[in-house]
Amino acid sequence: MRIVFFGAPGSGKGTQSKRTGATLLIPQLSTGDMLRAAIKDKTALGAKAQSYMDQGQLVPDDLILGLIHQRIKASDCHEGYILDGFPRTLVQAEALDEMLAKEDQSLERVIYLEIDPELVVARLKGRRVCSLCGEEYHVDHRPPQKPGFCDKDGAPLAQRPDDQEKSIRVRLEAYHNQTAPLAQYYAKDGRLASVHAEGDIDEISLRILNALGH
Ligand code: AMP
Repeated sequence: MRIVFFGAPGSGKGTQSKRTGATLLIPQLSTGDMLRAAIKDKTALGAKAQSYMDQGQLVPDDLILGLIHQRIKASDCHEGYILDGFPRTLVQAEALDEMLAKEDQSLERVIYLEIDPELVVARLKGRRVCSLCGEEYHVDHRPPQKPGFCDKDGAPLAQRPDDQEKSIRVRLEAYHNQTAPLAQYYAKDGRLASVHAEGDIDEISLRILNALGH
């Protein structure tokens, strides 16, 4: 099954798409994670993407499309995959449909995580991420056992540069102007499933599996 997760920054896309991928035994592909890895590895793509990302702006469509095109052709994607954070613009959504149509494939479901915008800023400001394994914490809602360090591997936790308040505002604006219109695009042909993304994490995961018919 080929699935897209989309929603505002801080809606829980990353956490929930990883959980759903683990349940359905298909890879979860996050363009944000891929770009952060490219920055860490100092690749040409990372160098081009970094300034956009740090400021909270979207990376240009052509860079993202190249990245995704290559990734979904890999052998672990044959049974399907979950896209997290892609598409984020109408150009990307249309390009994805075209890419898949060429392979006689289609995108079956789009999970839209709906959340009160007021909650989003608090979630993002308090987010901390393990510098080694990427596990996410929240200073108030999901604190690690030892403050500042990952429960899984003991590595230090860090704040993403784009989780600073100034970048958060730019990201929310980019979401509102460029990504939110995707809801209409996918609702038109019945692929959109809206899921209420507030409350208990396990309960939200169940709502998502329900929306996927599991
Ligand atoms: P995320 O981890 O999904 O919050 O993405 C972090 C940042 O990576 C975004 O604010 C963008 O700068 C960039 N990014 C990730 N996915 C995309 C995409 N599909 N299109 C453009 N920029 C993206």
